[in-house]
Amino acid sequence: MILQGKTITPGIARGVTHVVDARAILATAMSVPPGESPQSELERLHAAIGRACVQLDRLQRQLMGRVAATDVAIFESHAGLLRDSQFVSRIENEIHAQSVSAEAAVSRVVTDLHATFLVNKVSLVRDKAADILDIGRRLLQCLNAAPLHDVELGPDSVVVAASLTPSELVHFAHQGVVAIVTETCGLKSHTAILARGFSIPMVTGVATACETIANQAEVIVDATGGRIIIGPDDATKQTFDVLVKKKQADEPEDSGPLPPPVTHDGVTLRLLLNISDRIEAAAVPQLGANGVGLFRTEFLYMDRPWWPTEDESYVALREVSDAMGDPATDLNVRLVDFGAEKCPAYSDIPVNRNPSLGLRGIRLLLQREDIFKPQVRAIARLARERKLTLLIPMLDTLDTLDATIEKLCQFVGVPQREQLPFKIGTMIEVPSAAILIDDLLPRVDAVAVGLNDLTQYLLAADRDDELVERYHDPLQPVVLRLLKRIVEAAETHCKPLTICGELAGDPKLTGLLLALGIRRLSVSRSSYAAVLSAIHRLSLRSIDGAADEILSLSTGAAVRRFIAEHMGS
Ligand code: PEP
Ligand code: MG
Repeated sequence: MILQGKTITPGIARGVTHVVDARAILATAMSVPPGESPQSELERLHAAIGRACVQLDRLQRQLMGRVAATDVAIFESHAGLLRDSQFVSRIENEIHAQSVSAEAAVSRVVTDLHATFLVNKVSLVRDKAADILDIGRRLLQCLNAAPLHDVELGPDSVVVAASLTPSELVHFAHQGVVAIVTETCGLKSHTAILARGFSIPMVTGVATACETIANQAEVIVDATGGRIIIGPDDATKQTFDVLVKKKQADEPEDSGPLPPPVTHDGVTLRLLLNISDRIEAAAVPQLGANGVGLFRTEFLYMDRPWWPTEDESYVALREVSDAMGDPATDLNVRLVDFGAEKCPAYSDIPVNRNPSLGLRGIRLLLQREDIFKPQVRAIARLARERKLTLLIPMLDTLDTLDATIEKLCQFVGVPQREQLPFKIGTMIEVPSAAILIDDLLPRVDAVAVGLNDLTQYLLAADRDDELVERYHDPLQPVVLRLLKRIVEAAETHCKPLTICGELAGDPKLTGLLLALGIRRLSVSRSSYAAVLSAIHRLSLRSIDGAADEILSLSTGAAVRRFIAEHMGS
């Protein structure tokens, strides 16, 4: 059988499925051993019910107005069951009578109820069977913070899931997953960005993946073509093996650093990497990149039990720095950008009514010194050993910038910012910061334009929401005109500007970025070679004047036509 979806990360892999659907979670939970006493298991159960109700409330608030009211009501009915005294006392009885863990008791009761619902004569009740499984899954997740973080993968595992959070993706990446298939995932979401960063072939948009694909099934994931071949025959396997060998031959492992990013007419650019851990950092010397343009540090915090201490942060940063090699190479470390869907499993960050517009990035850090201070102190320690720029995530106004710089000085223990051991750069991701660029630049040493968020906020189109995917369009003239303004301001103030959103990694758009005056690009490991060869093919002379023509266009469609007709590299 072949299923078709959309490519998140191209690539091809063969493996055995690990389906993380509700049933698999319930089955695993059955064997969780009990704690010290039934009383402690009961307390855990009630705490988990409380957490699950908070989550459901959050989901309802997030979905209100976005989906039909009947769909939102499903979560209200889930919360209703969690508060239902009969349901809860059945689980309590299991814990008492059978001396089992809260996980095993939930699993037994939910499995039992699910089976009863499935054979009910009334179709309305039968339809509720899936809801019961969903409630069980949520309760189990709340019982042990995040069961997906406990999932142990076998060799050559292909994870199949309804969706994955960034922290779950990091967990599976660390376990050596060979490919991922999900039912939903925004193309510009952090989960997608991470999958690309880790070069894990990933396909999404496979509507019923968890039901259609069996656990432990042999599959080939042709992520480049967005296809999943379930139970391939011998001939297909042979074709696959030939493809993999060809790919390996095309990309010899030890090819050594690639040539520098010099255009066809001899202009030297800076091509850097976006990274999130030391494995990606090691690609800097391997590829011969000019350094790290964006280190998304929040992903260092994901696959662990609690917020790291200063020492733990320092060790993780130091590992990244060591993996990069030469301490004179550019390293732009972004302060953790938590908020929205980017939170670790143990997070105690308050839930926002509207995740993208809520407390996140630097605003959150200014309220959470317990997260902010240890990281700044760890960064300062590393900055005494190597060249480093600290990047501020989601900066909005000069007031926030002033407050941030004051805190940086206070945490590091220096009276003035000139004495900080690192340079200060800021992300330009919020339209207000982009509009204020001339006021901002004299106060910072560098800027990094995050077009993923800048596009999201400028066009009011959630980057994670597949329903508005086509509106999240960085080729809209409004985005390009604002980008040009930022580039010109950076030139005027003689401050380095790096572009590091997903657009920078698209080799078809390298010519456009160079035409707009951008000379520093930061891209994921998987896009590096393609962007580098686009740079080698391009000649700045041939695109001279193209920016004026592009910026005079008034629709995204016209920009696309212009690029296709005139800017092929
Ligand atoms: C961006 O917003 O473009 C960016 C680079 O940051 P992130 O993708 O991590 O939000
Ligand atoms: Mg961003």
